[in-house]
Amino acid sequence: MHHDHHASRPGRRRILAGLAAAGVALALVATASAAAASTEAAGLKPLAGKIIGIDPGHNGLNWTDPSFLDRQVWNGREWENCDTTGTQTAGGYTEARFNWNVATYLRADLIRLGARVVLTRTSNHGVGPCVNTRARILDRARANVSIDIHADGGPPGGRGFTILEPVADGPNDRVIGSSLRLARDVHAAVLRYTKMPISDYYGHNGYITRNDLAGLNLTTMPKVLIECGNMRNAADAALLGRPAVQRSIAAALTAAIIRFLAGR
Ligand SMILES: [Zn+2]
Repeated sequence: MHHDHHASRPGRRRILAGLAAAGVALALVATASAAAASTEAAGLKPLAGKIIGIDPGHNGLNWTDPSFLDRQVWNGREWENCDTTGTQTAGGYTEARFNWNVATYLRADLIRLGARVVLTRTSNHGVGPCVNTRARILDRARANVSIDIHADGGPPGGRGFTILEPVADGPNDRVIGSSLRLARDVHAAVLRYTKMPISDYYGHNGYITRNDLAGLNLTTMPKVLIECGNMRNAADAALLGRPAVQRSIAAALTAAIIRFLAGR
């Protein structure tokens, strides 16, 4: 899959590289946080009364229980494994840890803005739950909107983030249109507030539809899954492991959720 994703962005990428070199990467986070902080200072809680679901993919001890991971669960279209261990960087930094860290930053941002937050796991030192259970936890919580947080294990030469979108299959029929709108909000916010580039190896222009994932097949609220970058790529891995980048991704997801719920 080869697409020219970068035609419109070389200038921006050069600027970002320069900023990073100057140690100003945090300014990007500050931009998103400043918007949220000024809202907060004005006494406004734009997410008051909202329930937000966060599914940080995998779990830190999944690797200890292969038979649990091999359990077959119904994903809304077919049987699949309960879950996997997730991927990791060449240096051994795990996707489960990355997903959990971003989720933790995101939860804090959302709570500060008045939301109630539901997570599908409570720590990064457990096993499970299975992917169908994760979907059910968020469905039962009646979340207004949800995000599945992952990072990919792609070919080492490929970089960037991809937004995975649901395909209508029955349970999710009523939230396809809204999920596609959420996908656009997440895509725009990640480009605006983080240093992650659009994927150059997966999907098209940072988007791909998937009909084989429980989290997307079984959802009854607007939901997308974001592969924040490619942990098997050295440049992406260097970014994904940094707390400042993780915070910027959380800030971008917060901005996207606020925008999505504002309805435009
Ligand atoms: Zn994953």
